[in-house]
Amino acid sequence: MPHCVRSVGRLKERIKMIAIGDTIVSFDVINEQFLCDIASCKGACCIEGDCGAPLTLDEVGILEEILPVVWNDLSEAAKKVIDKQGVAYADIEGEMVTSIVGNKDCVFTYQEDGVCKCAIEKAYNEGKTTFKKPISCHLYPIRIQKYKQFTAVNYHKWDICSAACVLGKRQKLRMYQFLKEPLIRRFGSDWYNELVVVASELDKQGVKLRRK
Ligand code: SF4
Repeated sequence: MPHCVRSVGRLKERIKMIAIGDTIVSFDVINEQFLCDIASCKGACCIEGDCGAPLTLDEVGILEEILPVVWNDLSEAAKKVIDKQGVAYADIEGEMVTSIVGNKDCVFTYQEDGVCKCAIEKAYNEGKTTFKKPISCHLYPIRIQKYKQFTAVNYHKWDICSAACVLGKRQKLRMYQFLKEPLIRRFGSDWYNELVVVASELDKQGVKLRRK
């Protein structure tokens, strides 16, 4: 049992984050309800924002390897960008991110019935690659930030996902439940099971009812 849970009762009104192993998880990840509503958002996270999706160095290598597999699904503009600068670039903080078209669209996105989809995920679903998509995309709207002493697990709140908040409330699905698969992919089953125990403990104590 994480040590922080015992203190929750006393700090009920102020709790903002939970320690699990070497991670610090934002309370929002446990408390907020969220379920992607692609029909409403049209996959906006693939094309909104002013930089690409965060990548690990390993993922940059993987994207280079699978590029021939997804090439035919990419737009002509995306192909030109990739020919010029590759699948990724360093953002202003020096972190690697996917290359983008027109300062916003991820080069790996394509349109289908007015919805932005991921060519990497399409190839994965068709059995052409074993790499589903970058972990940052898989985890979104959770964002991971590594620090020297710990790794922060935060909810990146963005109005493009507002329909997902509505749908999550309707389905009574919490963000950490919706994102079970990528959370296990990133942190492992033991970590996720511990998160579930913490969430249940907080529920018992009525902490989920706290409003900001
Ligand atoms: S993360 Fe947000 S923008 Fe992306 S698919 Fe889900 S609801 Fe839509």
